[in-house]
Amino acid sequence: MFIDDDRIFALLKTSRARSGVQVREILAKAREARGLAAEEVAALLDLSEPELLGELFSTARAVKERIYGKRLVLFAPLYVSNLCANECSYCAFRARNAKVKRRALTQTEIADEVRVLVEQGHKRVLLVAGESYPDEGLDYVLRAIDTVYATRVLPGEIRRLNVNIAPLGVDEFRELRARQIGTYQLFQETYHRPTYERFHLKGPKRDYDWRVTAMDRAMTAGIDDVGIGVLFGLFDWRYEILALLEHAQHLERTFGVGPHTVSVPRLEPATGSELASHPPHPIADIEFRKIVAILRLAVPYTGIIMSTRETANVRRETFAVGVSQISAGSRTNPGGYASHEKLDEAQFSLGDHRTLDEVIHDIARLGYIPSFCTACYRLGRTGRDFMDLAKPGAIRAHCDPNAMGTFLEYLADYASPATREVGERLLSELSEATQGLPGRRARRILAEVREGRRDVFV
Ligand code: SAM
Ligand code: SF4
Repeated sequence: MFIDDDRIFALLKTSRARSGVQVREILAKAREARGLAAEEVAALLDLSEPELLGELFSTARAVKERIYGKRLVLFAPLYVSNLCANECSYCAFRARNAKVKRRALTQTEIADEVRVLVEQGHKRVLLVAGESYPDEGLDYVLRAIDTVYATRVLPGEIRRLNVNIAPLGVDEFRELRARQIGTYQLFQETYHRPTYERFHLKGPKRDYDWRVTAMDRAMTAGIDDVGIGVLFGLFDWRYEILALLEHAQHLERTFGVGPHTVSVPRLEPATGSELASHPPHPIADIEFRKIVAILRLAVPYTGIIMSTRETANVRRETFAVGVSQISAGSRTNPGGYASHEKLDEAQFSLGDHRTLDEVIHDIARLGYIPSFCTACYRLGRTGRDFMDLAKPGAIRAHCDPNAMGTFLEYLADYASPATREVGERLLSELSEATQGLPGRRARRILAEVREGRRDVFV
């Protein structure tokens, strides 16, 4: 088993014994954006001295800027069904929770949801479902994927669909891959086995090993981009970070490429769950920022995803230290976009209720480039090919122009006048300031989008 508890607990014991000099040496190494070893990560976990903490954040900010520049990729979750056979103590969709009305959207209803998202300007969705499907079984999900890709509202469409559903066998993962999914995403919730068993009381999800080996099966089936994560609040976050890194290293050793993304959900209140309102290991906002900063330094080329579980303020403070993808305008109940159903039907409560346009206005004002880019996976730049381009820094010559092009599409087709004004100002500053090949590409793409072309990328 690749999660080695003895090693993790031994590392946690040593983590407190580091001097300021040693911590600064580690931060200096981290600044080169080549990642950190587990011992080095452990040394950062207990940092609390304000000056060193400030240095941790500024190092993470420097690494984020070097790799991702000012880009923030945007997506929306698409909940298709809340049917579930499991009893995860923290989730509103758990089988025995009578407070939630059960619903699996029909294909027509899924298309309705997609239309709303496309009309808001979204290009990337994350399809989410509980662990139980209508009679068709997995075919329900496969058809849902087809529906999403087939639903167009000119001039837009969903160009990349990622999936967060229960673990599958290798053959089923092959079927998922054949549907042209982007990332397969699955959170271990907690890597700590006794805690896992305590909070997963019934159903197939009780099987820790089946879940922790899901990415091995997905990658064996040829899914190059996988996304891992922890539900922070269930157990000691310092343990979880070290275990998550062991998971990432295991994938890298076995398949030649680590996870494409890491998600950092924090436990939020959920209808019918005592646990969700009283996390056994609550994460303070400052710790949350530490988690993101440490991950950014430990796995610099892995995307970090932050959802609307977090409030607008926490999100603003956390972008800078390493987040590269965010959801916006989210609903976490099936049918939540097309109808305005009661919020206690949602999977958990949201911290950021703003619309996509409001979020974009805010981040553009802060100087971030909202990106809807989907170029890599459509050009086959996935898995190892992506990392080979990303690690020497070459990917920025693609990402920056593509981000600007997709942002301009958003401004031209969907933005409110106020957002368009802020966005146009930002784009003109950026296109002047971007030098060399990326600058030439950006100016060409922007000119083509202004002439009315869509979906232009390099
Ligand atoms: N049913 C599948 C599963 O459990 O893996 C996939 C979908 S599940 C709805 C997606 C994720 O929601 C879970 O992996 C869990 O981390 C997260 N989640 C569940 N309850 C939550 C809560 N109260 N607060 C924050 N996130 C929660
Ligand atoms: Fe079901 Fe997933 Fe919620 Fe667990 S987290 S109850 S498996 S939807």
